[in-house]
Amino acid sequence: MTAHIAAANDISPTAREVVLDLPEPLNFIPGAFVNVFMEIEGVRARRAYSISSDETIQDVITLTIRKGSLGGMSERFWDESITAIPVEIMGPLGLNTSDKISGTRVFLFGFGIGVSVIKGLLPHLLRRKNLKEITVMIASRNEEEALYKEFFEEQLIHNPHLKLKMVLSQPFDPKYPYKGHLQDHINGLDFTDASIYICGSKVATESLRDAIENEGKKVGEFFLEAFD
Ligand SMILES: Cc1cc2nc3c(=O)[nH]c(=O)nc-3n(C[C@H](O)[C@H](O)[C@H](O)COP(=O)(O)OP(=O)(O)OC[C@H]3O[C@@H](n4cnc5c(N)ncnc54)[C@H](O)[C@@H]3O)c2cc1C
Repeated sequence: MTAHIAAANDISPTAREVVLDLPEPLNFIPGAFVNVFMEIEGVRARRAYSISSDETIQDVITLTIRKGSLGGMSERFWDESITAIPVEIMGPLGLNTSDKISGTRVFLFGFGIGVSVIKGLLPHLLRRKNLKEITVMIASRNEEEALYKEFFEEQLIHNPHLKLKMVLSQPFDPKYPYKGHLQDHINGLDFTDASIYICGSKVATESLRDAIENEGKKVGEFFLEAFD
């Protein structure tokens, strides 16, 4: 279907939230992605982007995009004229992750731009009546790149069974308590029978999964979503 880009707003120095108006409801569930097609220098390019908005609205969706290399599609979303260009989208695509997450104790881990999928999944999981405990851990470079910080903090106010930790690899504040990688902050977490979702680059998601497995607990289920 052909989507109209209603807005493209900076949410960090390197990330933008792109609002797409769709001609019809997409019927996606959280965790889904769409393929976006765009003509770049005469070539029809395709890139996958995850949906970062809540499923309660189906005909307006957001994608959260990290500025990529020059000449790629992602970088195009910083063009001033981007809202004038119609884009073709195909979807929803993906593994229906949110339906598959079955545990009553859930861990959601997001690296970098992968945090945007956690933003989409979280409201869906919080609406589940049988959810006992949900822990969100997100990894960003620094305070400016901590995507959707206010959104996650707001969820804490209304959901006492939600825990949140934001880990910064290179914080501006030298006293920031959670420095390094997500793997450095999993000690003491009980993963027994838990559902674990990890989103980010392949190397990051796999090394976190390995670190969790090394904790020696019998995890209920793992879901890994790699962006590369
Ligand atoms: C399931 C999934 C979900 C994703 N969700 C997001 C998201 O929410 N936000 C986000 O910012 N990124 C997301 N990505 C990554 C995104 O699709 C792009 O790869 C990334 O943004 C870089 O895009 P670029 O235009 O800058 O690519 P470039 O810098 O041009 O290239 C980046 C990589 O893509 C490869 N590539 C180039 N052309 C193609 C092509 N036609 N088809 C396939 N690969 C090609 C290149 O070889 C290179 O390895 C997701 C990827 C996947 C697989």
